[in-house]
Amino acid sequence: MAEKITAVKGMNDLLPTDSGRWETLEETVRQLMRRHAYRNIRTPIVEPTALFVRGLGEVTDIVEKEMYSFEDRLNGEQLTLRPEATAGVVRAVVEHNLLYDGGKRLYYMGPMFRHERPQRGRYRQFHQIGAEALGFAGAEVDAELILLAVSLWQAVGLKDVRLELNSLGQPPERAQHRAALIAYFEQHADQLDEDAKRRLHSNPLRILDTKNPAMQALVEGAPKLIDFLGEASLKHFEMVRQILDANGVGYRINPRLVRGMDYYNLTVFEFITEHLGSQGTICGGGRYDYLIEQVGGKPAPAVGWALGVERVLELLKEQQVALAAPSLDAYAIVPDAAALPQVFQTLHALRASGVAVQMHAGTGEGMGSMKSQFKKADASGASFALIFGEEELARGEVTVKALRDGQGAQRCESLAALAQWAPSLQSPVR
Ligand code: ATP
Ligand code: MG
Repeated sequence: MAEKITAVKGMNDLLPTDSGRWETLEETVRQLMRRHAYRNIRTPIVEPTALFVRGLGEVTDIVEKEMYSFEDRLNGEQLTLRPEATAGVVRAVVEHNLLYDGGKRLYYMGPMFRHERPQRGRYRQFHQIGAEALGFAGAEVDAELILLAVSLWQAVGLKDVRLELNSLGQPPERAQHRAALIAYFEQHADQLDEDAKRRLHSNPLRILDTKNPAMQALVEGAPKLIDFLGEASLKHFEMVRQILDANGVGYRINPRLVRGMDYYNLTVFEFITEHLGSQGTICGGGRYDYLIEQVGGKPAPAVGWALGVERVLELLKEQQVALAAPSLDAYAIVPDAAALPQVFQTLHALRASGVAVQMHAGTGEGMGSMKSQFKKADASGASFALIFGEEELARGEVTVKALRDGQGAQRCESLAALAQWAPSLQSPVR
């Protein structure tokens, strides 16, 4: 036998045992987005490397060490597998001039790629669901997006998620804070790790995002950006808080919350859980009013978030929340292959009326014994077996046998009246 080829490290197959839970989450998201007037956008997985370098910032974890970048062999273009989707969405919005007639509310789902050390909740190919509102400057849209995420946690039954909130102010406010920050870290230069030393003058804010436990105390005492905010920034922040308060959404203001990309300003937030160890951030976002201009568009404000699908599902599992996976209604048992042409007609009609039905597949020699077919029907998880026996068919009927609730109960149904009894096969939760 040839040598086995296995998946790339940190990149996972999603198998049918789990894909039902993913589909249910995705379906819930689609429904919520529709109800909030967010529309789907799908951008390419590969983008020009420059988009991320310019968009995310040169001195960020992602751009410095996590990108899958390569040169196109044909034309030498520098390309990157997207590490996140906001930059691509913004590129698309600019490229297609989507804001010409006002703001746009968008959402996406899909795979992202980061070359990180794989561990629980941290993969090299992972999946994000994100929402972006572009062209809106008001704090009410920040609040709308945060409340949308909260609604999603409620809809899927997620508990124990904490909201952390901060404001990064505007560029001039950040410049003042930056100067104070550099002065502070210079005073304590002996306590900085290598990363921090390197970033001291290029991106000192990023030092606050450090995961090094030895630097926590130092970072704790650093000047806080929130103390440098002017009136307008404070007012924006206040409005977000008022809407959250009025809607019973609890949060903690975390002055050290800075997020991993450079593009944020004003409101930033993260939803965090204690149940996933150090990979506890399940969703993060904020306002990015300068990104559109940075990638060459006409200046326009924007705000958004992204959640990690694997982490959300892991957390649901941890909390033993069963995400109802779509189930099979019926399994068709066909004792004699001669009946197949007619069976197909019936199955087609059942499916057209919304019944999920699996047909028994034979061995190539024949359909197999009734016993083995019933065994397969049981294992399939179907609620009913449909038995297309010779006698029933001769009468223009099929036998419907309950396999779970009221197990064993059996009735004959007329094929001519299929439309009347087909709905009774459908499970209520779908
Ligand atoms: P972290 O601090 O955990 O590295 P991040 O700040 O880099 O997260 P974002 O870029 O804000 O994460 O992405 C949004 C969400 O995507 C995160 O909150 C997380 O749930 C998820 N996520 C990020 N990186 C990964 C990864 N490598 N594997 C799985 N999920 C991830
Ligand atoms: Mg990260």
